[in-house]
Amino acid sequence: MKVTEVKAEVLRLPFSIKIGSMPRINASGTLVTVKTDEGIEGYGLSHFSLSDETQVKFIEGALSKMVVGKDPFMIEEIWREMYNNSWRILFGVGQSISAVEVALWDIIGKSLKKPVYKLLGGYRDRIKAYASFAFALAPKAAVGMAKAAVQKGFKAVKLRIGEGLAKDEEIIKAVREEYPDLGIMVDVNSAYESAKEASELANICETYDVIWLEEPLPSDNLRGLSELRARSNVEIAGGENDFGLRRFREILEAEAYDIIQPDATRSGGILQVKKICALAEAFGVRAIPHIFGFGLIMAANIHVIASSYNSDWMEFPFYPDEFYLLKTPIKLEDGYAVVPQEPGLGVELDWEAIEKYKAK
Ligand SMILES: [Mg+2]
Repeated sequence: MKVTEVKAEVLRLPFSIKIGSMPRINASGTLVTVKTDEGIEGYGLSHFSLSDETQVKFIEGALSKMVVGKDPFMIEEIWREMYNNSWRILFGVGQSISAVEVALWDIIGKSLKKPVYKLLGGYRDRIKAYASFAFALAPKAAVGMAKAAVQKGFKAVKLRIGEGLAKDEEIIKAVREEYPDLGIMVDVNSAYESAKEASELANICETYDVIWLEEPLPSDNLRGLSELRARSNVEIAGGENDFGLRRFREILEAEAYDIIQPDATRSGGILQVKKICALAEAFGVRAIPHIFGFGLIMAANIHVIASSYNSDWMEFPFYPDEFYLLKTPIKLEDGYAVVPQEPGLGVELDWEAIEKYKAK
């Protein structure tokens, strides 16, 4: 049997309720119908009363992609896929709150005519940057990309791996042999499940003098991460898929990482990530925000880094300038990112490019 459709509809009852900290809302629910090729239909109902319409979009637009075509008996498989791609990384929620919060800081900075990092308490105006590659590359291509980064002035690069240990080693080895003095970080993006594999990878990283090993295991396996960290001679980094101050307290108490990587555009916004950095400082852990993609994401995080004592690197997405969508991309001088000094986030959007890339 195969699932053929996942449908969601909002039901609204004729009275309103007020519970705890929620605003007053209509009593409502989201009815889910799962259809199959054998004509059997299943029904489920839940509610996210703040906006059932959003839940409908999430179920039909996101979850259904991982359910349609599957055998409905394979619940463990279906659940795992839905979980890994949404719940584990709180996909959507942390990001949405963060984007709104960051925009508020931009207003505050513009209103006070100060760059945000100075309002947070500035610590540095230049940050050691590493070029972060967008995807895993074959060894030769990785060397080529490293060359391009070195030519731009970067003193360190982050390679994406997680392609199997043998291939991972080839990629790291190729770049290390070509560039004996280059800083190398590696990012697994939670590709491995096994602690033993991750531990072998840590040994490989040690051989090639890797600065840190990022997300070697899924972010919800704190026990595995802390055991790995205790055994590894290479620093273990992670946290780009974790959200909020209290979650980072659990992470820090579990001693899961040497370096945490909250992202101001995912983990709750600039103030939340600033608090997370401060909490890490108290634990003697470095906090080096995750940054990927657009210039506005770089800008939001650069102000956290520039105001945090324990943030000594900046992840610099290694992209063609046009994809930053900024009029003037964040400047790089001799391997250091220059913190914008204009009010607010300190960057000007490239509206022409934004118009071009707006989804129609
Ligand atoms: Mg990463």
